[in-house]
Amino acid sequence: MIIFLRSRNAAPFELNGDGRFVMSRKDFVPAYVQAFEEGLLQKRAEQAVESLRSCRVCPRDCEIDRFNNKIGVCKSGRLARVASAFPHFGEEDCLRGWNGSGTIFFGWCNLRCVFCQNFETSQFGEGAEVTAAELARIMLDLQRIGCHNINFVTPEHVVPQILEALVIAVERGLRLPLVYNTSAYDSIESIQWMDGLVDIYMPDFKLWDAEHCRKYLVASDYSDPAWGAALSSRPSS
Ligand code: SF4
Repeated sequence: MIIFLRSRNAAPFELNGDGRFVMSRKDFVPAYVQAFEEGLLQKRAEQAVESLRSCRVCPRDCEIDRFNNKIGVCKSGRLARVASAFPHFGEEDCLRGWNGSGTIFFGWCNLRCVFCQNFETSQFGEGAEVTAAELARIMLDLQRIGCHNINFVTPEHVVPQILEALVIAVERGLRLPLVYNTSAYDSIESIQWMDGLVDIYMPDFKLWDAEHCRKYLVASDYSDPAWGAALSSRPSS
């Protein structure tokens, strides 16, 4: 699933800018490390996974038992589905750097955007289910080949699975910044679970008008200001 590349350890001069724009990995401590050391990450992961028994992980509030593989709007059960994971060079310069952004595309989605450019992934569930240990392994592989960050794409419906995998990945040495690359249809609770763990939020906000949201996303409440307010808040620690 992962494309291997030869990693460069030194930043190209034009990106480094005489040291003004690039922070050495050894000088960076991701927020989730402290949360892990304090036991907060493990606690949140347990709570989030437990919440799958009556799923309200996103604003759809399906309240079905995903823990036992019942399926709601997002069609996801107990495990996350990964469509692909690779060093992505199509992201913004500050994310892709010179070794790529370590992007993990999740299968399925809680939206139904008629204009989706990843329709096979979001609506047909392209990819394979992964356990928490396998998802952690994917993160560590992306780190090992030199990616600058772990970039979760369309994570809204699999926040509990990300959290439980993160516990394992941190135990095994993950130290890259996390990018939360969301379609912005997150529940307040999910945003709170990720608060203080994510280093970079990248909400891909789509539409304001409720009628357009109903018609083109099949989510008339998409633009509720609460989601926007929650997403725009920075982690508290
Ligand atoms: S994450 Fe999926 S099952 Fe849970 S509330 Fe959202 S759409 Fe429904």
